[in-house]
Amino acid sequence: MKYDYLIVGAGFAGSVMAERLATQLDKKVLIVEKRPHIGGNAYDEYDEHGILVHRYGPHIFHTNSKKVFDYLSQFTEWIPYEHKVLAKLDGKLYPIPINRITLNKLYNLEFQTDKDVEEFYKKVKEKRYPIKNSEDIIVNQVGTDLFEKFFKHYTKKQWNLEPKELSASVCGRIPVRTNDDCRYFTDKYQFMPKDGYTKMFERILSHKNIEVVLNTDYKKITNDIKFNKLIYTGPIDYFFDYEFGKLPYRSIRFEYRNFDMEYYQTTAQVNYVNHSEEYTRVVEHKYLSGQRAKDTTVSFEYPQSDGEPFYPIPTEKNRQIYLKYSNQAKNLQNVQFVGRLAEYQYYNMDQVIANTLKKSEEI
Ligand code: FAD
Ligand code: UDP
Repeated sequence: MKYDYLIVGAGFAGSVMAERLATQLDKKVLIVEKRPHIGGNAYDEYDEHGILVHRYGPHIFHTNSKKVFDYLSQFTEWIPYEHKVLAKLDGKLYPIPINRITLNKLYNLEFQTDKDVEEFYKKVKEKRYPIKNSEDIIVNQVGTDLFEKFFKHYTKKQWNLEPKELSASVCGRIPVRTNDDCRYFTDKYQFMPKDGYTKMFERILSHKNIEVVLNTDYKKITNDIKFNKLIYTGPIDYFFDYEFGKLPYRSIRFEYRNFDMEYYQTTAQVNYVNHSEEYTRVVEHKYLSGQRAKDTTVSFEYPQSDGEPFYPIPTEKNRQIYLKYSNQAKNLQNVQFVGRLAEYQYYNMDQVIANTLKKSEEI
């Protein structure tokens, strides 16, 4: 059997690319995935208590792109879902992103309008120019006290770096609000796939031209199979045998616990922003799916450097290493690098889907 394409990785990048190649260009595709399942980091499954859990951290679909939303809607129905997060600071819970309610509760104030809050930020913020890192971007908006309370320690735990060592784009993911909007995201489309992510991936991949092989590192099989072109969605440094050194990726150990109570916390996600707890966030999975049950499963996230590569680490030094790899990648005619690990970019799901659709259209 000869394949038109070998695709490495069955996450969003690999699966969407396979679907496009098979359905739009009638190509024969083999996907090789090293893990025992499809879906990449968006994989979900029912745990031993019958609760649907996200195995690699909470995955909330949010996008402003109608194109991405319409594309995925071919493979799933949706449940409306707006993510809400509370930050636990010195034993008390506050809305995060920081908003009017956060400030009123934290400083015992009675701000009523956006204008009140704007005035407050004007007083406390410290001008930083140019904005060079993740400390600058927050302090420049809300000053040192709020930065130290809500960002400094969480960021150190998550990345094992100080915010000033990280690109501004990291903490810059979190907006600062003047209103009382407690949603984590404000995108136009915010939904969860009705039957879960894994079921959605099964439908994306269900095509006669697509074959999937699990539990296999692509390097073990490339000599044994025939294919014309390669789409690579794994870590780019591994592809080049670490020729320019290792690119660091941040990992997480997830500790799952089931509690014999209907709900463990009052919202889907609580961020532990003090340094006293080692974990960063605690996620209660029933909130994500809307599932009802008399017990509940919760995951605690312990960031670590070893393990499955989950996050590229956006620092200047790492960008320089990545550029060496991406230059090398440009010389390869028959290989395309797509996705969060292969492009070493801190992408959300919708960005990976949008990029993959675009790249598939260029083929
Ligand atoms: P991946 O999903 O990582 O897929 C790459 C696949 O390649 C993997 O399955 C891997 O096993 C496989 N692979 C790697 N090397 C090899 C090899 N040598 N041989 C064979 N296979 C290989 N995004 C959102 O939009 N909303 C969220 O709420 C959200 N939450 C997140 C929470 C966490 C904890 C994490 C880590 C990410 C989150 N994301 C979220 C981001 C989202 O997971 C990614 O954008 C998306 O999964 C990237 O898809 P991908 O296909 O590029 O990569
Ligand atoms: N962050 C923080 N405190 C919070 C939430 C986020 O310091 O309560 C910082 C932290 O550095 C984190 C980054 O902002 O890694 C991005 O947060 P996000 O929730 O987008 O992270 P992800 O869901 O990608 O892990």
